[in-house]
Amino acid sequence: MTYRHRFAEGSRCDLPPGKAVCVGLNYAAHVAEMNSAAAAEPVLFIKPRTALVPFAGEIAIPAGRGACHFETEVALLIGAPLRRAPPEAALQAVAGVGLALDLTLRDLQGQLKAAGHPWERAKGFDGACAVSEVVPPTGLDFSALSFSLELNGICRQRGHTGDLLAPIPELLSHISQWFTLEPGDLVLTGTPEGVGPLTAGDLLEAELAGSLRVSARVIARS
Ligand code: ZN
Repeated sequence: MTYRHRFAEGSRCDLPPGKAVCVGLNYAAHVAEMNSAAAAEPVLFIKPRTALVPFAGEIAIPAGRGACHFETEVALLIGAPLRRAPPEAALQAVAGVGLALDLTLRDLQGQLKAAGHPWERAKGFDGACAVSEVVPPTGLDFSALSFSLELNGICRQRGHTGDLLAPIPELLSHISQWFTLEPGDLVLTGTPEGVGPLTAGDLLEAELAGSLRVSARVIARS
């Protein structure tokens, strides 16, 4: 399915889909479950536009490429250009807030990491970024957004942006020191603990701050 940004209440979003800038290891408990060391600076990577798919209906995971993990993350839709922005100004550029799945080919990522190679194939493949509808940021406290993911009716991930190692304003500012964020780009803010593999047939249900609920069924793509 072709991806377009959408507002949850049905109003049109004309921002063109762009890149998704992501941060790894931004929650301490996830750093621990990955047996990783906390990084001194945010660990950034980019998923291309071609990775974007709707977090709705059916989500396809690659077949025959090892474990594909879900990582549930707060996603920010950028509405104005950000380049070398201070934290306070960076927040003003957020046009929408939603949820994303940073789909990760975990076995392949492990092999690439061990070889000292970039992760792109494990995290940037077609369909590797499922993005929900977004809600306007008006009235939301970016430091107190709670979110959760249920897999087949069982809660697997529960996060709160108050636990982010790099909070949202600082994260946006930091990203903009390196990569210009353009209108229509997304920022994924990192996953809390509880990541795990997906199987065809799984039902995913996610919720953000009491203001957004999304669900999708997992299918395998050959
Ligand atoms: Zn992630």
